Amino acid sequence: MEFEATIGLEVHCQLGTNTKLFCGCTTLFAQEPNSQTCPVCLGHPGTLPVLNKKVFEYAVKAGLAIGCDIQKFSKFDRKNYYYPDLPKAYQITQFDKPFALKGGIEINIKGNKRVVKLERIQIEEDAGKLIHTADGSLVDLNRAGTPLIEIVSDPDMSTSEEAYQYLVNLKKILKYNEVSDCEMQEGSLRCDANISVKPIGQKELGTKVEVKNLNSFRYVQAAIDYEIVRQIQDIQNGNKISQETRLWDVDNGVTEPMRSKEGAHDYRFFPEPDLPPLILTDKEIEKIKSTVAEPPLKRKERFISELKLSEYDASILTEEKPIADYFENALKEFNKPKEIANWISNDISSYLNEKKIGIDQFPVSIENMTSLWKLIDDGTINKKIAKEKVFPLLVESNKNPSEIIESEGLAGKNDSDEIRKWVEEAMAKNQKAVDDLKNGKDKAKGSIVGMVMKASKGLANPQIVNKIIDDIINS
Ligand SMILES: [Zn+2]
Repeated sequence: MEFEATIGLEVHCQLGTNTKLFCGCTTLFAQEPNSQTCPVCLGHPGTLPVLNKKVFEYAVKAGLAIGCDIQKFSKFDRKNYYYPDLPKAYQITQFDKPFALKGGIEINIKGNKRVVKLERIQIEEDAGKLIHTADGSLVDLNRAGTPLIEIVSDPDMSTSEEAYQYLVNLKKILKYNEVSDCEMQEGSLRCDANISVKPIGQKELGTKVEVKNLNSFRYVQAAIDYEIVRQIQDIQNGNKISQETRLWDVDNGVTEPMRSKEGAHDYRFFPEPDLPPLILTDKEIEKIKSTVAEPPLKRKERFISELKLSEYDASILTEEKPIADYFENALKEFNKPKEIANWISNDISSYLNEKKIGIDQFPVSIENMTSLWKLIDDGTINKKIAKEKVFPLLVESNKNPSEIIESEGLAGKNDSDEIRKWVEEAMAKNQKAVDDLKNGKDKAKGSIVGMVMKASKGLANPQIVNKIIDDIINS
């Protein structure tokens, strides 16, 4: 019997507000344990939550960017359970009336474009963290009350590759819209995967297993692949798949049972009595909509169709919004997309990687960078010298490149008489190359050009050098 898998993903994304969801505590990472807390997020009796409006704004922006139907009425609910990292013994979340429904994320598997559908997005608070030591377990509540959105896809994927792309593209959209830093190492983006298998063609879905603890997209992919094989083998061995939550064991590359899965009724959801419902007007939705960034995939397609860039160049330029912005701002000053793309993906990227910084910290202003490109373009300086000599000085000083060229004596030599002298000297020293050239062996030209470049310290204009050699040989 042949089987097929059904996969749905739940992504928890920390919204990038400075303060928590229902109190004024900061959301700073890696602080002294329990230093970012107050009676509200510690769950003291008698305290009342107050909604951080910025959270709602970021959440709606994320929902709009993902193409969701934003709900004008939504509300908060209590999800009741006891755990040491949850001092209130309930989590404030959204149950039957989340703020966003539907929407989707585009994926492209080997040229087949399609949209993975979303079920919903809800706003909720994070719990604290347990730290297990040899002497016992410790509780750090700095994260308690941190604002999250949970993005729930439909069970609309069937391979780990689709899941991986879904996550990559979702993350890109969230980062483009600056609603989250999406740092997986810091827990800003976490993913649970629901996986089931069924005989091909069967309508009814198989029993689903939820895999938690997936803090990298590659782990998601590996855990899905592992689960699909495990479940198919189990069924083939005559066993029943039990509905359970499993953990991904990074070291051994396997999933391990964690607990049997609770149903919604186990949580005794009920409306949060201390918070009013969330009401949005069309005008407010429109206002937030106007701040949503152009979708990264659309931008990439535009770079290909309008600017005639290759798929490869367009991918690199749209990988991160600040790079795409730098590129487009530079383009306004210097209208040669392919040239700029080459500089960004080679020289500039190497520099950023070496310094481990983003393009937003790149020290050269767009004005100075484009000035350099214009000086190459009009022949004031040759490209090799620009890359090897001027660019390193430019990133150090962010000076006007004309000044650097002037003070370092790096301007290209375009004076025909001067170049002719170098050519004649080179020919005098290399009679064999001259004879070869006269006999139609064009390859011999290289050695003469090389000698001229050496004599001129790389500054002679190569086009003029070539022309003068041709003139002499043909005369
Ligand atoms: Zn607090």
